[in-house]
Amino acid sequence: ASGSDENDVVVIGGGPGGYVAAIKAAQLGLKTTCIEKRGTLGGTCLNVGCIPSKVRLSISPVRFRVPDMRACVGIDCYGSDEFAFALLHSSHMYHEATHSFASHGVKFSSVEVDLPAMMAQKDKAVGNLTKGIEGLFKKNKVTYVKGYGKFVSPTEVSVDTIEGGNTVVKGKNIIVATGSDVKSLPGIVIDEKKVVSSTGALALSEIPKKLVVIGAGYIGLEMGSVWARLGSQVTVVEFAPDIVPTMDGEIRKQFQRTLEKQKMKFMLKTKVVSLDTSGDGVKLILEPAAGGNQTILEADVVLVSAGRIPFTAGLGLDKIGVETDKAGRILVNERFVTNVPGVHAIGDVIPGPMLAHKAEEDGVACVEFIAGKEGHVDYDKVPGVVYTHPEVASVGKTEEQVKALGVDYRVGKFPFLANSRAKAIDDAEGLVKILAEKETDKILGVHIMAPNAGELIHEAVLALSYDASSEDIARTCHAHPTMSEALKEAAMATYDKPIHI
Ligand code: FAD
Repeated sequence: ASGSDENDVVVIGGGPGGYVAAIKAAQLGLKTTCIEKRGTLGGTCLNVGCIPSKVRLSISPVRFRVPDMRACVGIDCYGSDEFAFALLHSSHMYHEATHSFASHGVKFSSVEVDLPAMMAQKDKAVGNLTKGIEGLFKKNKVTYVKGYGKFVSPTEVSVDTIEGGNTVVKGKNIIVATGSDVKSLPGIVIDEKKVVSSTGALALSEIPKKLVVIGAGYIGLEMGSVWARLGSQVTVVEFAPDIVPTMDGEIRKQFQRTLEKQKMKFMLKTKVVSLDTSGDGVKLILEPAAGGNQTILEADVVLVSAGRIPFTAGLGLDKIGVETDKAGRILVNERFVTNVPGVHAIGDVIPGPMLAHKAEEDGVACVEFIAGKEGHVDYDKVPGVVYTHPEVASVGKTEEQVKALGVDYRVGKFPFLANSRAKAIDDAEGLVKILAEKETDKILGVHIMAPNAGELIHEAVLALSYDASSEDIARTCHAHPTMSEALKEAAMATYDKPIHI
């Protein structure tokens, strides 16, 4: 469908927004081409974001000396003398092995981290997943063009292909899904060795003794906790007075205390003035956000995690007159159409939360509109998850937002310390907090801090999507013993009393 053939839909960018839009468009019977410059599909998320940061550790990196363990607990480790788990999860397993297993009666004589194995496993997992999307393209008959796309006109994209040629791809509709890139800070040069972005932090060749993270957003905290678990002394420097500013205040405070217990240090209201990389490590010159005396903080590696910016470099938006805002985000209407008819935009490159699942929702709705159907994304009900341990997940409004709206509300809370499953597995740090409108009991927001809050939150997302009341959740039968029972009890606490506390 490339070359001179005209497509119904051309997607520029093969990340979660772009590849999902391409597959959905093809499923709706539209002739579709997707252009991706990276050479692999899946975008930031799959190649250098969500997946390598999380999946990695579920498969391999920590090596346990299994003969000891077998002797101890009688586990046959799938016929192997070593077994491993994949980075957030792997580092968690290592931390558990060194800090918690003994209290469960599981003792090791030796536990060590094999970082190269961990990294190799990550690369393998990412490779398998990106190839999987290529397979889905073939299955759904999406044409895949590997190369850098730029607008020649609102219906034509010129592609410098990875193999070295050039082709022009034509489409009645073009969707820009070019995503986002790392944001640096004035005067800071990211070399991906001593001063790294999240991409470099996912590929360090050794465990830094001292890691400084600039920025206490979710990516900085996730990456910081990975390296803290593997033994780095981690200090997070943040200009704002709080970590993760979008999080419910009460949950945020508890979350910070939990991370501090895990030996992460926080320097809030602190500005990074400059970095000196001339020596072996890095010297950070800091000063209080409000001004004052400068101090020096030393690090082996500095992770710059100060947010992400929309990526539209070399795309030729100016050539066809597509409007962007001051932050460089492409402006679209509720049908994802820019000010240029036929040119659409989705995902991280438009305003809204920079999340993979939001980009996917945009992609599906955008092509539904193109196909003449109705698309819909409810941005008030996009869940957010911080994949630390415990995880923090939320949907809907924070208590601060509810207050600011002037709505009369009730709060129901339930701690995991009173949840039987959490107690049984000795992983009971955290709580569920539900905010409901006082007059109607309609749920306004749900916030969960728990080992697998990222899974638990979806019951709340569904409840909010159907405008459920907290009583609806409380009267829904929940299996015992499960962590989900804490959500039911918090719902009871919202309008009545919980049973188990
Ligand atoms: P992207 O994924 O950025 O994809 C855009 C693609 O377009 C890229 O592959 C790029 O190469 C291509 N492209 C750009 N310009 C051109 C061009 N001119 N021609 C051809 N191709 C082009 N989100 C979550 O929801 N959960 C998480 O756990 C999570 N963890 C993250 C961890 C990290 C470390 C990072 C950095 C991000 C994380 N995110 C997470 C955010 C998530 O990765 C993004 O929100 C998501 O990838 C956005 O999808 P997208 O399709 O809009 O853009």
